[in-house]
Amino acid sequence: MSTKHVSVAIDWKKEGKQVGDIRVQWSDNLVPLGYHSVPIVYFNQGKGPKILLIGGVHGDEFEGPSSLMRLVQDIEPKKVTGKIIIIPALNRPAISVSERNSHLDGKNLNRVFPGKENGTPTDLISYHIEKVVLPDCDVVIDLHSGGKAYYFSPCTLVTDVADQDVLQASLAMAREFALPTLWKLGEHNDDRSVNSAAARNSVPMIAAELGGGGGSSPQWTNASVEGLYRCLKHLGVYDAMSSKDVVAGKRIERTVQTMDLKHSLNAPGRGLFDRMCKAGTYIQKGDIAGYFHWLEEPERQSLTLQFPTSGFILAHINRGMVNRGELLYLITQETKFNFLKFT
Ligand SMILES: [Zn+2]
Repeated sequence: MSTKHVSVAIDWKKEGKQVGDIRVQWSDNLVPLGYHSVPIVYFNQGKGPKILLIGGVHGDEFEGPSSLMRLVQDIEPKKVTGKIIIIPALNRPAISVSERNSHLDGKNLNRVFPGKENGTPTDLISYHIEKVVLPDCDVVIDLHSGGKAYYFSPCTLVTDVADQDVLQASLAMAREFALPTLWKLGEHNDDRSVNSAAARNSVPMIAAELGGGGGSSPQWTNASVEGLYRCLKHLGVYDAMSSKDVVAGKRIERTVQTMDLKHSLNAPGRGLFDRMCKAGTYIQKGDIAGYFHWLEEPERQSLTLQFPTSGFILAHINRGMVNRGELLYLITQETKFNFLKFT
């Protein structure tokens, strides 16, 4: 399991728990010779599906890495039936400086898939995941949050793929993960993400947005741990339900979709956004979204920003000073999956 500039220091056949590195060959002032490490943990016991659990695709989102590190500590290797790969900090360079993008090349890992065999570190990581790791897995779970810049109403993401077997397997995991909102990814979602890489490889996948703010919130980190254990039990790989305080999941309350990017609200200039609403609430067309103050030019009249459409606020910006074009609110509409069996 290696690509031209990336190798993995794990013995895939050996049973038990191993900790190793995804070794990214990249020479810079920090590591002139050698490799940049992306830590990887592998549980292998008996016959069963191979599950890939990812966190830290963005380096300022810590709820996912926190929940995955709890699993790394707590999973008992002998109770595993199958294979669990945990990569708690896939964009380790970005995580190490608590920034969304890699400080090695400035790139956003979730905007470069399928990556490049001869690219910069972020290209190399994404290429290796899409071409080698993902195709060999039966299921992928990728954990995100709003990071420093946004707060997401906690939601599970499923791509609306044409392959009904893949879609049903993904939806079944979303039901087990059991966050309040299910976000259906359609034509308005980026095709350079982990979600798209999984869709291209026909691998069932869920992602999650676990709040945000740039730290690790206990409520959604705990929910993530419980969701992960429910998924692992559902997949027949690991049963923590009897030994841990894992409760049954609640029902998904709503399914939403980004119908039109023009429904969302962007900053009209460089200034202070005085926010009036929050993620997780329903709004009507014309409601006041907030006030926009020209903080650096206070002689100018402040603007009253109104929502261009009714809908559900999936995310709001977590910043005060904003730049022209920055997303202030992500507005979605309720929808459903055509073949949703479990609602
Ligand atoms: Zn993210």
